[in-house]
Amino acid sequence: MGIEDQRRRIPRTDHLLSLSAVTEARTRLDEAEIRAVIAAQQELARSGAIAAEQVEPAVERELRGRRTLSLRPVLNATGVVVHTNLGRAPLSAAAREAIGEAAGYVDVEMDLGSGKRSSRGAGAREALLRACPDAEDALIVNNGAAALLLAVTAFCTGPGDAAGPREAVVSRGELVEIGAGFRLPELMTAAGARLREVGTTNRTHADDYAEAIGDATGCLLKIHPSNFRVHGFTAEVGIAALRRLADEHGLPLVADLGSGLLHPDPALPDEPDISSALRAGADVVIASGDKLFGGPQAGLLLGRREAIRRLARHPLARAVRSDKLALAAVEATLRGPEPPVSVALHADPARLRERTERLADRLAEAVHRRFAVVPHDGRVGGGGAPGVPLAGWALELPEAAAERLRAGTPAVVARVRQDRCLVDPRCVPESDDDALLACLVEALGGAEREAGPDGAPSGIGGAPVGRR
Ligand SMILES: *Cc1c(COP(=O)(O)O)cnc(C)c1O
Repeated sequence: MGIEDQRRRIPRTDHLLSLSAVTEARTRLDEAEIRAVIAAQQELARSGAIAAEQVEPAVERELRGRRTLSLRPVLNATGVVVHTNLGRAPLSAAAREAIGEAAGYVDVEMDLGSGKRSSRGAGAREALLRACPDAEDALIVNNGAAALLLAVTAFCTGPGDAAGPREAVVSRGELVEIGAGFRLPELMTAAGARLREVGTTNRTHADDYAEAIGDATGCLLKIHPSNFRVHGFTAEVGIAALRRLADEHGLPLVADLGSGLLHPDPALPDEPDISSALRAGADVVIASGDKLFGGPQAGLLLGRREAIRRLARHPLARAVRSDKLALAAVEATLRGPEPPVSVALHADPARLRERTERLADRLAEAVHRRFAVVPHDGRVGGGGAPGVPLAGWALELPEAAAERLRAGTPAVVARVRQDRCLVDPRCVPESDDDALLACLVEALGGAEREAGPDGAPSGIGGAPVGRR
């Protein structure tokens, strides 16, 4: 058939636009993108790269494969509960639903009874206060860093500071970098605060704070160094002792806890919690919404009424305020069932072993290779509870499987360690075990396709098992 005949048989644009795949794609994609897909396939046919008959199926395939979102869903098989590179806390079903509901017009700042303006995010604030009765008031901002910025700025700068900003007195052992070169001291000085560093890296005493306090002091600041631990000859001053100093000098005391447990958790005995910090005497306690709290990105500020009000009224509060989606998710996280972070943190090791062994069995059945089930410690992650192992189990695969798993749909991110790829089900919801198995079969089944003529699998490893 001549090139001219081929060209005449290329489907016309109006025909392609009437395909049901196009109707379906219009719910996700804009018209220009759809037309560009069609034009590109017609062009391929015109140039002879594909046959005219292939245009229609190619358009359908291409449109179905186009996603509106560049973010791809991931099954977290690393055993790291709060994985910063995977978006920290996964939201509960209740929080996801709340985000959907808050996505349209909502009464986030209106009292529907009177039709008048109301206080923004009052529902989330009330839920937080109910969950944490030790706080007199609460404020939710964009993230933990914003909360710290707001507190330090409000307490250390302001009208009447003729001599420049006041100082936040903080221990040298607490001036931490929390990740990716992000340093809390730089954040605070960028905000215009002055840090008055006291003590040494490993030891700071109450006297160190006392000597530093003077006319220029704006607040006392305690930061929980969440992502490392100093062992050996160490000393730090607790919140209760700092409270006494703060009272003597009439200063506010701010405690940045990082992780955001609301109450003590026996699984993490060394992790500070908001309620205890408030009871020990902090005026303002700061925590992230998307670490151990298990909610959306948010900065939670809880504390004494006057102190929180001062922060809420500060001009910077408007620049760091929380959006309605996060407010909805915070409220739903608090009022709904146990969030996934807590479920993963408290997973029963015996149950994890059962799930891992069942995965290994079903995988062996599908790909005729058996992979070992080995003990594997999960981690809290996200800069929380460093060095605390969470006893669990993993399926041990060859290292090469990790890349194939990441390329799957959904992508599976496993832990690569000492030439092995470890698949830990701790952070995979049990309801996703079938999906995880399908991804494993897909990633390891490649070896099957490369099997030799005698049917003996080759390639990616594992011990062969007899065929049924
Ligand atoms: C994580 C952390 C922060 C920052 O919180 P984000 O919510 O990530 O902005 C601040 N301080 C401490 C101690 C932290 O661990």
